[in-house]
Amino acid sequence: MTERPLAILGGTFDPVHHGHLRAAWEAAEQLDAEVRLVPAHVPPHRPPPIATAAHRVALLRAALAGQDRLGLDTRELDRQGPSYTVDTLAALREEIGPSRPLVLLVGTDAFAHLPSWNRWRELFELAHIGVLTRPGSAPTLHWDLATEVAKRRACTVQGPAGDVIDIAITPLDIAATAIRDAFAAGKEPRYLLPGVFFEEEGLLAPYRKATGP
Ligand code: ATP
Repeated sequence: MTERPLAILGGTFDPVHHGHLRAAWEAAEQLDAEVRLVPAHVPPHRPPPIATAAHRVALLRAALAGQDRLGLDTRELDRQGPSYTVDTLAALREEIGPSRPLVLLVGTDAFAHLPSWNRWRELFELAHIGVLTRPGSAPTLHWDLATEVAKRRACTVQGPAGDVIDIAITPLDIAATAIRDAFAAGKEPRYLLPGVFFEEEGLLAPYRKATGP
């Protein structure tokens, strides 16, 4: 019997929003996978987050409470220096053994930038890649990546690693940048984020404080 896949969705989660949560949830259902959200400590490609790592974890914990299909994996926060996905996948592969399918979930926008990731070709040796279709984002792939993908396109995940599959998800055009901008403009971006963020004292404080008067 094939083992149940383990899938991870890495990101800054500054803050986690319904776009992330719904994408992770639908991937879990479509792949019949255990999905873990993996917050990045020092994202190599981006400016530093507004909220601290501890605070982004608090938001993730609040968002994930009350269900057990989606989990949280904070290993990148425990590492010093930049968090590279290839290292995270290698550590997970070590833990789960050689045969269990491992899937790296990425949005189409993030996927297009794959060739800028550290040791990106090794990613395919460690995991499958599940590309989450994201509205407004159908970027042309760099020829290097397009060549790699052409050899690996598949409809379903088979074996432990090496395939690229599209995972069509309900399009939710929600981005953390727009949420941070909304706070900056003094708005309340309700219903883009879990309601509990607005109910529990202090959870949104870094965004209000960073951008408020
Ligand atoms: P920012 O606006 O700060 O760039 P973001 O909302 O894109 O943030 P990230 O933490 O950078 O969120 O995203 C983590 C992962 O989740 C990436 O693979 C990204 O493509 C994916 N993702 C983010 N938002 C969505 C969405 N609305 N639908 C599907 N996937 C998403």
